[in-house]
Amino acid sequence: MIYLDHNATTPLDPRVLEAMMAFFTDRFGNAASRHHALGCDAATAVETARQQVAQVIGADPREIIWTSGATESDNLALQGVMRSSAYRKRHIVTVATEHRAVLDTCEILEAQGVHVTYLGVGTDGRLDLDQLVDAITDQTLLVSIMHANNETGVMHPIARIGSLCKERGVLFHTDATQSFAKTPIDVQSMGIDLLSASAHKINGPKGIGLLYVRRKEPRVRCEALIHGGGHERRMRSGTLNVPGIVGMGVAATLPADDGVGALRDRLESALVSGLDGVEVNGHRTERLANTTSLSFKDVDGTQLMKRLPEVAVSSSSACTSALLQPSYVLGAMGLPEERLRGSVRFSLGRGNTAAEIDAAAAGVIETVQSLRASAVAHE
Ligand SMILES: *Cc1c(COP(=O)(O)O)cnc(C)c1O
Repeated sequence: MIYLDHNATTPLDPRVLEAMMAFFTDRFGNAASRHHALGCDAATAVETARQQVAQVIGADPREIIWTSGATESDNLALQGVMRSSAYRKRHIVTVATEHRAVLDTCEILEAQGVHVTYLGVGTDGRLDLDQLVDAITDQTLLVSIMHANNETGVMHPIARIGSLCKERGVLFHTDATQSFAKTPIDVQSMGIDLLSASAHKINGPKGIGLLYVRRKEPRVRCEALIHGGGHERRMRSGTLNVPGIVGMGVAATLPADDGVGALRDRLESALVSGLDGVEVNGHRTERLANTTSLSFKDVDGTQLMKRLPEVAVSSSSACTSALLQPSYVLGAMGLPEERLRGSVRFSLGRGNTAAEIDAAAAGVIETVQSLRASAVAHE
C-alpha cells in the first residue's frame, strides 16, 4: 500500500510514540492532581508540550487551549466567541471552501440569529481581498479563513488578512490544521487572534488538538462549550489527555520534512506528462508543498480509486466523501461538473519515497488509460 492521503491523517511517528508510551503506564497521573508527585509529573509534561506547540506559532504557552482536535477547536473558536457576553456584534465572514468543521458551525450559528457571509473564491481557489474588505461591516465580530485548504492545498494570504482585520478591529480566526508545524506561522506578525490545529495531521496521535486564543491586544473572550471544573483557562473543562498532549508537543517539534515538495512535483509532472487531459486544481505556487489535486478527463475519481486499491488517495475531502457528494471545494472554484467527478487528491508526507511515487504514478497512468479504453469500447 502506497499511502498518499496525509491530508486525511498521518501515521504516528515512532519518536512521538516513544515519548507518549510512559504516560499510558507508569506516568499515569491526572494533570489536575497537583497535590502528589504523579499529578505534578503529568502537569509538568503538559506544560512542556504547551511550550513546544506555542513556540511553533510564536505564542505564549498560556494562550494554548488543549482540545480533542481541530473540529472541536473550530467549534470552540466560532461558537465560543459568538456566545461571549463581552461582544454584541453578530456577523461572521468566512469562505465557501472552509472545512466542514467551520461551515457546519456557521450554519448552527445562523440558526441562532448570527449573520454569516460566505465569500467565494476564484478558479485558483484563492479569495479576492477586496471582497473581504467589502464584506466587513460595523457588525462584524469575526473573520474565519483557513490557512491552507485540505483538498487543494491552496493557501490564503493570512498575514494580509490579519492586518486587514486589525485595521477594522475585527477578530481573526484561522484553521491552520494543514499548515501548522509545516509552514512558518507567527501569530504576532500575522495578526492572528485564534488558531486551530490538530496532532494527527502532523504525525501525532488522533484525538488531540489545540486552539490558540490571544491573551492581549486584544484579550479574546471565548465562552466554553464543555463545562466541568474550569480547566484550560475555563475554556475547556475535562481531564487532560496527557499522552496525546505529550505526543502533540513532540510531533510539533519534529524536524521539517524538506523532501516532500520535490516528490509532489515529481508525481505531478509524471502524471501531467504521462497522460492527456490532466489538470491541476488550484493555484500552482500558493499551495502546500505536499498536496496536488488533479482532474483526469473522462475518468471518475472514485472509479480510479477502486481500480487502484494499492494507492491510498482521496477523491474529495475524506470528511465529505462519506456523504458521497462531489467536492464542494472544487465546486466553489467554479470548476465544471466533469472536472469535479474526475478529481483525485494526492497528499504526501513523511516516509514517502521516490520509488513509491514512481510506482504510484505508473499505477495511475495505467489505470486511467484502461478506464478510458473501456469507456470507448462501450460507446
Ligand atoms: C483534518 C482537518 C480538520 C479536522 O481535524 P480533526 O482533528 O480531525 O477534528 C479541520 N480542518 C482542517 C483544515 C482539516 O484538514
